[in-house]
Amino acid sequence: MKTRTSTPTRFTGGKALMAFAALAVVATLVTFPRLEAFFQIQAGLRGKETLRLTVEGLNGALRRYEPLPGLIAERPVLAQALQAPDDTELLQRVNEELRLTAERLKASDVYLMDTTGLTIAASSYRKELSFVGRNFGYRPYFTQAVEGGLGRFFALGTTSGERGYFYAFPVEVGQRIIGVVAVKFLVAPFEEAWRGGDHWVIVRDLNGVVFMSSNPRWHFRTVRPLSDGERERIEAIRQYPVDRMELLPNTASPLRGDMALLSIEVDGQGREFIANTLPIHDAGWAVTILTPTERANAQALGAVSILALLIMLLGFGVAFYLQRRAQLLERIAVQRAATETLEARIAERTLDLKQANDKLVEEVRERRDAENRLRQTQTELIQAGKLAALGQMSAALSHEFNQPLAAVKSYADNAIQFLARGREEETRENIRRISAMTDRMASISKHLRNFARRPQEKVRPVELVPVMQDALAILQGRLEAGRVDVRLDLPDEPAWVIGGHVRLQQVIVNLLNNALDAMEDEERPVIEVGLSRVGDRWSLKIRDHGPGIDEETIGKIFDPFFTTKTPGRGLGLGLSISYNIIRDFGGRLLAQNHAQNGAVFSLELQAAQADTVALDARETAAE
Ligand code: ADP
Repeated sequence: MKTRTSTPTRFTGGKALMAFAALAVVATLVTFPRLEAFFQIQAGLRGKETLRLTVEGLNGALRRYEPLPGLIAERPVLAQALQAPDDTELLQRVNEELRLTAERLKASDVYLMDTTGLTIAASSYRKELSFVGRNFGYRPYFTQAVEGGLGRFFALGTTSGERGYFYAFPVEVGQRIIGVVAVKFLVAPFEEAWRGGDHWVIVRDLNGVVFMSSNPRWHFRTVRPLSDGERERIEAIRQYPVDRMELLPNTASPLRGDMALLSIEVDGQGREFIANTLPIHDAGWAVTILTPTERANAQALGAVSILALLIMLLGFGVAFYLQRRAQLLERIAVQRAATETLEARIAERTLDLKQANDKLVEEVRERRDAENRLRQTQTELIQAGKLAALGQMSAALSHEFNQPLAAVKSYADNAIQFLARGREEETRENIRRISAMTDRMASISKHLRNFARRPQEKVRPVELVPVMQDALAILQGRLEAGRVDVRLDLPDEPAWVIGGHVRLQQVIVNLLNNALDAMEDEERPVIEVGLSRVGDRWSLKIRDHGPGIDEETIGKIFDPFFTTKTPGRGLGLGLSISYNIIRDFGGRLLAQNHAQNGAVFSLELQAAQADTVALDARETAAE
């Protein structure tokens, strides 16, 4: 029997599982950066859209305020005020007018400066930190306007401390510039709108200074180091508080197209964003939308986890399948081993059986040999028996014939003498005796012929009752003379037996004759004839009421020439011949004494089918 290999079974499933785990790790490592980049780009694209809207919003605001100082500058009252700077009443009116204008425009400040940059009227005239009396001649927007152009500038308000965008326009009388009107609006409301969204916003100027941002801590920080000259210029126009202009540490790497991955400091720690930037050329700004990468990274992580999970699920599936397959194979192997064992055992048994069979065949052969030898011995014995019978017969015959022959000779000799003496009567008597003797010898000879001859009559189904009735008919004369009472006990159905009509009749006549002989002295002799079915045979019993057969005689009655009758009455051949006839038919002839009195001879013959009636009837007629 093969050894069971359960270890490889576990190994196969486990190995597959390990392979799939490795595959999951590799797939994670390979696909995660790609997935991360993919989701970052998706987030970046959304950021780009936000950027476009943000820039549009800013541009819209800038354009909305842009024409305002020009329109205000056209008011005649402003020129009047500039031409009469000491008219306090007029200035007071202008102050109030500018205040109302600012309120209407939702501007932080509207103010009027003379050509030196001194503010003579302002919307903030009532406020604590009023612009009135302050000089903004250092501001670029003033210098641009006083030279006849549109002035624009972004700066931290030196008076208000608020970040604002400034537009300025000259006030002219004829071709002469006599002053400047400036409008300031605050940028903080834009930032308000940016806060709370998914994205962070940075607006920086040409120097890389962040002046607007959704994160207030980034205000006035620089995204690149500033040169000393740049710093000095900024300080000169007092644009930003120089002490707050520290570098905002950041590193950028390209992501896709103009999209970049930007790591920037938030609350003292580096944080990663996807950066999209668009310029606002009029203002010289660059607007950057920062989209935090955390969500994209989480999405990538989620996707890669699902992938790994799927691979592991597949791995489990494959491992399970392999496990089941291995178990199945193992079971098949066990079954095969069992089958082989069984086959081996069968082969072993078959060999045993074959040997036993060979032995049997050998024994049968030996038995057959023994049987053949026995048969041969039997044949020899039969031959010997026949020789013995022949010897017996010879002795009996010589006795049977010698005695009448001697008598015939004596009678003949005496007859010759009686004839010579002329004693005719005695001579005739002797010749009559000689004739009787020769009759007797002829009778012996006839019986002997019957004894020796095997009649040509065929053995075939014969109906027994008619045969018996024929036999009774033959003996009718003797039966009547002896006043014999024959009692028949016959069956209703016809008794078909295997035999020959003539020979059966001969046997029955013989048995009836013996019965009559045995009851010679009886006054009222009775013969009972019974016919009955015993299994596959018919049994014909002939009982007489004579003296029966004595003990020592009963063993010899079927021997040839055995007789208890006086010479001339019996030859001792009847039963012997009858016995042989019945044996030839495959039947039996038995002799026994009846429990009450008399002898019973039983004739047992094989029962036959009646379907040969016609044939048998024809053959019977031919006999
Ligand atoms: P046989 O009649 O010439 O003597 P069988 O062979 O017929 O020769 O008979 C042999 C002997 O068997 C007879 O001599 C007789 O002794 C005995 N035997 C036959 N039949 C009967 C019978 N029915 N009752 C008594 N003895 C019988």
